[in-house]
Amino acid sequence: MNLEIVNAGQVNYEQLHFGWFLVDWCNYKCTYCSVANRLRDTYSKEESHSKYKLVLERLDRIDSSFDMDIYGGEPTLHPNFNEILERLSNNKFCRSIEVKTNLSRSVDFYKNMFTHDKISISASYHFEYHSQAFIDKCIALKDSNFSCHISMPDQQEHWDTALALIQTFNCNSVQYDCNILFSTDAYKTNYTPEFYQTFKHALKDTGPKYPYQFNDGTVSNLSVYQIKQQGLDNFNNYKCTAVMYEINTEGDIKNMCTGKVLPLLFKKEDTHKTVKCPLTSCSCDVMFNFYKEKQYDN
Ligand code: SF4
Ligand code: SF4
Repeated sequence: MNLEIVNAGQVNYEQLHFGWFLVDWCNYKCTYCSVANRLRDTYSKEESHSKYKLVLERLDRIDSSFDMDIYGGEPTLHPNFNEILERLSNNKFCRSIEVKTNLSRSVDFYKNMFTHDKISISASYHFEYHSQAFIDKCIALKDSNFSCHISMPDQQEHWDTALALIQTFNCNSVQYDCNILFSTDAYKTNYTPEFYQTFKHALKDTGPKYPYQFNDGTVSNLSVYQIKQQGLDNFNNYKCTAVMYEINTEGDIKNMCTGKVLPLLFKKEDTHKTVKCPLTSCSCDVMFNFYKEKQYDN
């Protein structure tokens, strides 16, 4: 019997997730940037700035609990960034706000962001922009709601620097995790067996675990590392309650898996629809929470 997944994720999982791509420009130009196709090279994109107000008004009318990730480009470059954080903080249905930043602003800028317990910073370390200033900022912010996402270099020339960074974070109790890069149209990643050997102590099998049930009756709780290693992230054609939505700079809100755009005023019945998975892999860890069930032909 071929082992296959009968169902996975948490039954009745309801928490809604938004990823808001606040601006489509960045002050960095990482070779491997996964959103490079969204980025524009100029700062003079005034027409998109005003769209945020309508998004906030729509979120004020929401009727279910949600988590918000703020992306870019570099989202802190939005001229109304602080106002947006404040409005989201005051939204009673907003449970958390995680800002993904390259940490290029000042320490004071980031410290001033922590106006509410809901707000956290997830700083991305980019090896092409390695600097002592980045490390100093991480240490200065480590006692706040802060963690660093290390974009792991596949090129050997950056490995010593990455190893030293990990050691510095360990010595200074900076929270971090190691992020394996995905290939993009412009950058094909090449993580060799030597890479995995070199960083095996850092690529730990930690973090949350997600329930899986298989057709031989076994039930397992698996980490993201195990899921990816065993190729258990493909739920194509499974029935799934896909509750992750993307907000673009034009203010459109659409389902990240199906691309279906939400109506102007949306309610839970619009956001919590069960779909037939159109993709061949879940693209982020949170999606492993969503409940999926294999559809068998009668
Ligand atoms: S900092 Fe992030 S958004 Fe900016 S270029 Fe690098 S990967 Fe892309
Ligand atoms: S890719 Fe989307 S629709 Fe498919 S299983 Fe993952 S979360 Fe569900």
